[in-house]
Amino acid sequence: HDYSKDDIRKMVKEENVRFLRLMFTDVLGTLKNVEVPISQLDDLLDDKLMFDGSSIEGFVRIEESDMYLRPDLSTWMIFPWSSERGKIARVICGVYKTDGTPFEGDPRNNLIRVLDDMKKAGFTSFNIGPEPEFFLFKMDANGKPTLNLNDQGSYFDMAPLDLGGNCRRDIVLTLEEMGFDVEAAHHEVAPGQHEIDFKYADALNAADNIQTFKLVVKTIARKHGLYATFMPKPLSGINGSGMHLNMSLFHENGDAFYDENGELQLSEVAYNFMGGLIKHARSYTAICDPLVNSYKRLVPGYEAPVYVAWSGSNRSPLIRVPNARGLATRLELRSVDPTANPYLAIAAVLESGMDGLRNKIKAPKSIDRNIYRMNAEERKENDIVNLPDNLHNAVKDLSTDKVLEQALGSKLFNSFITAKNIEYNSYRTQVSEWETNQYMDKY
Ligand code: GLN
Ligand code: MG
Ligand code: MG
Ligand code: MG
Repeated sequence: HDYSKDDIRKMVKEENVRFLRLMFTDVLGTLKNVEVPISQLDDLLDDKLMFDGSSIEGFVRIEESDMYLRPDLSTWMIFPWSSERGKIARVICGVYKTDGTPFEGDPRNNLIRVLDDMKKAGFTSFNIGPEPEFFLFKMDANGKPTLNLNDQGSYFDMAPLDLGGNCRRDIVLTLEEMGFDVEAAHHEVAPGQHEIDFKYADALNAADNIQTFKLVVKTIARKHGLYATFMPKPLSGINGSGMHLNMSLFHENGDAFYDENGELQLSEVAYNFMGGLIKHARSYTAICDPLVNSYKRLVPGYEAPVYVAWSGSNRSPLIRVPNARGLATRLELRSVDPTANPYLAIAAVLESGMDGLRNKIKAPKSIDRNIYRMNAEERKENDIVNLPDNLHNAVKDLSTDKVLEQALGSKLFNSFITAKNIEYNSYRTQVSEWETNQYMDKY
């Protein structure tokens, strides 16, 4: 929506909005917000609202902590769950420095920068259609999440009610009230697992939508007494949760990935973009799969990718080309999980693809047989490498990739790597239950 300041003032009056939640996302992908009473509206609209950014992950040092929040009025939204005493609205903000320039540590500003470069290269938009998956767990009497899946356990009184289905429907209705175009909502393969797909949007809106989506899912699940988690692999032995990204690049004449005369009706642009995605796959994995736990999902046997390859027919590889052509021609990246910071992940894959275009990187030949049935030697013959097998190796590959450094900008790049190294070290020095079970009485 293209709201003017006056539109906003009018909506505030008409709908009795009493509080404003000013949102932005930190480097780790956490949605942050400052809530201010409506008395601050004029300052907000005049870009005069300041906050102290010193405690935000990846933000600034104490000495230079004052920042401005500049609202992107097109993201204005009144929450449907606001109370009778007055409604709550949110607006997503850009973080600006006191000298009025965009703060480089703000992942959303960074994505805007990368999209500007894409426009300079002659494209009009990068469209993203995400497929986020999540689990619904039961909560205990204290409102803490348990490890009991909501649609499998024997929760005797509840047994005949499809609490998962009701909750999912309520999520979809709420999303629709908030302006989302929901395309499909379905139970996923694993017990307690769901997927909700909403319509593609240009990169910036898609990233905003992903952040809003996660907030809505968690909020509505809680109203149903359930705990929603986007953790990539909450339980071993069953599928994890991914967030496939369907992407297409548009220029003035439509979908730049489509060429009716091209091989598989894909254009040169599509093949070069894919060449870049394949080349940088190991490095952007750290950004697209950012947790220690993410790598427990990327293992054989659970419909998640493990090898770097693409295919037009097979569902198992990292990149799949869905059947649709014309304006729906797109590439589906299947490694991404829903804990990725969407602003960083989209910037990373776009810059990787653009590197493919700039340097005319050729996509390798497609792998149309089941890679999981190939042995190591066959994979080697076909030049198929593995995705990183843990966060440490993923970050190592990321840290030497200049294209990815360009994608994030040095500030975000360095703070991301520092944060992830700390995270991995903290994990590495823990003794797990698996180890005590495995070794204690044997040795
Ligand atoms: N849950 C699977 C994953 O981890 C995806 C399953 C599917 O959507 N086909 O990516
Ligand atoms: Mg799907
Ligand atoms: Mg799915
Ligand atoms: Mg998919």
